[in-house]
Amino acid sequence: MAKVLIVGAGPTGLALATELMARGISIRIIDENEAPSTTSKALGIQARTLEHFHQMGIAKEPIADGIQVESINIHRQTDSFTIPLAIDSLFNFILIYPQSKTEALLIKRLEFFGQSVERGTRFDGFTNKTAHLIHTNGASEDYEFDWLIGCDGAHSAVRHALNLPFQGHEIGQNFVIADITAKTPLTHDEAFAFLSHQGPLLILPLPYERGYRLIASLPLDFSIPEDVMTFFQNIVTDRMVVPLTIESIQWNSQFSTHRRMTRSMRVGHVFLAGDASHIHSPAGGQGLNTSIQDAFNLAWKLAFVIQKKCPEALLDTYSKERRLIAKKVLFETTQVMRFLKISQGKLGGLLFKFLKILTSSEKIQRLLSKKLSETAVMYPKSSFFYESREHISSKTLKVGQRCPLLFPYNELCQDHRFIIFIFGTNKYEDLIASIEKNDADTIQCVLVEHEVKTEAIFHAFGAKEGTIVVIRPDGYIAYRQKKGQPLQLKLFLDHLFNRDNDNDDDDNS
Ligand SMILES: Cc1cc2nc3c(=O)[nH]c(=O)nc-3n(C[C@H](O)[C@H](O)[C@H](O)COP(=O)(O)OP(=O)(O)OC[C@H]3O[C@@H](n4cnc5c(N)ncnc54)[C@H](O)[C@@H]3O)c2cc1C
Repeated sequence: MAKVLIVGAGPTGLALATELMARGISIRIIDENEAPSTTSKALGIQARTLEHFHQMGIAKEPIADGIQVESINIHRQTDSFTIPLAIDSLFNFILIYPQSKTEALLIKRLEFFGQSVERGTRFDGFTNKTAHLIHTNGASEDYEFDWLIGCDGAHSAVRHALNLPFQGHEIGQNFVIADITAKTPLTHDEAFAFLSHQGPLLILPLPYERGYRLIASLPLDFSIPEDVMTFFQNIVTDRMVVPLTIESIQWNSQFSTHRRMTRSMRVGHVFLAGDASHIHSPAGGQGLNTSIQDAFNLAWKLAFVIQKKCPEALLDTYSKERRLIAKKVLFETTQVMRFLKISQGKLGGLLFKFLKILTSSEKIQRLLSKKLSETAVMYPKSSFFYESREHISSKTLKVGQRCPLLFPYNELCQDHRFIIFIFGTNKYEDLIASIEKNDADTIQCVLVEHEVKTEAIFHAFGAKEGTIVVIRPDGYIAYRQKKGQPLQLKLFLDHLFNRDNDNDDDDNS
């Protein structure tokens, strides 16, 4: 069996480890820390990540324990407006759930598969395919790997060992952060941004009684004084119009923001994922989400390649697909930072009025919600995608986009195989029989009859009788053909599974 070494047991490493284990790939996961983190950096879990959690069968617990934020309120002096979230997903909200709990959830799942994190083990470089590890007691170990994945955060030792530059720069804004309990009339299930000349103050609810997180920007050279309570109370009093009295501070920190990424996420048998490969401002709550989605993108590909079901070239699509997403996230979060900066200056009032008008449009609300929730993620075409040339309405789902959790996909998506949906006809019986005979371990083939409960998925795909759609194990649409041509599908599957395409006689065309 291939030896897979995952460095770092943050959300990225843990998600990757559990997804590989779920596919029967054994792994070794190490972390230099002796214990999981107890403080929470990230708070917001976006809809797309929850959809992945649904696929992993672990969405219920965080949804029951977290807070569902369905709108964002923007205040400036005595004026305000609300942006309701309009996400086309089962999960039309941002789930407030501390990162430490997300990590605990993934650790529980890892343990379910009989694996645990090797703590107190530091990655210290590699030579050829041998990783150099150092244990807490000082003992060193050389470990031969077949595949190495650096999920070891912004200061990644794996990235350093690869000599990959972390291209980008510091954004030039400092943030202070505090988890508090407070007396305030603010609701406990919405997000708030208070814009003022002193700088923005963001407030999120925390999942405990009267719990809130404060995030405020400050000049670069600033550091939190000793009297933390007075310091944060002054920020609140200066920047918001709604009363808020801090009762206690559970945790506080400060950080500067960077915008950096690597030019590749794969070098041979070594991968980078999560913060090890891309970092940006936390504005918009995208970091943990983008990182977990890296893991989801890589896991099935690596598993299929290790199991020799797919060609190694499939792994090149990991860097291609995920770098594109990281690049967009870096750009968009930088725009949010610019907006926050402008909101502080002379043009702040004008910008506020402009945004108030702009975001009152339902279309804009939907667009913003789509971006924020990461349901807009769409992968670029590669040879592992196929879309027929027929005219497809701009409103229907396309290759590269995610498949929403509509019936019957919502019930089938926990399977780790590709799914082929054949819409409205049973005339491809031979094709289905051939797939069931030859590819049962990689594909499930499903006939979607036209009935009331399948109306939504028919509509979403603009499907007609004979439309064929293939969904990848990570929920993205790999193949779409309005009028089924089984020969085309067969060619696609032969390429995907690296087969000679002249050895089969199950051609229905
Ligand atoms: C204040 C703050 C607020 C944030 N808020 C949000 C938010 O609301 N939403 C959001 O999506 N994101 C947010 N983020 C970003 C989010 O926290 C990160 O994107 C996320 O933690 C990345 O996960 P990761 O697993 O890639 O890296 P990390 O969480 O950094 O985990 C890396 C792991 O690798 C281990 N490690 C490091 N080096 C080694 C080594 N040499 N050997 C072995 N182990 C090693 C570390 O101990 C650590 O456990 C926030 C970040 C900050 C700082």
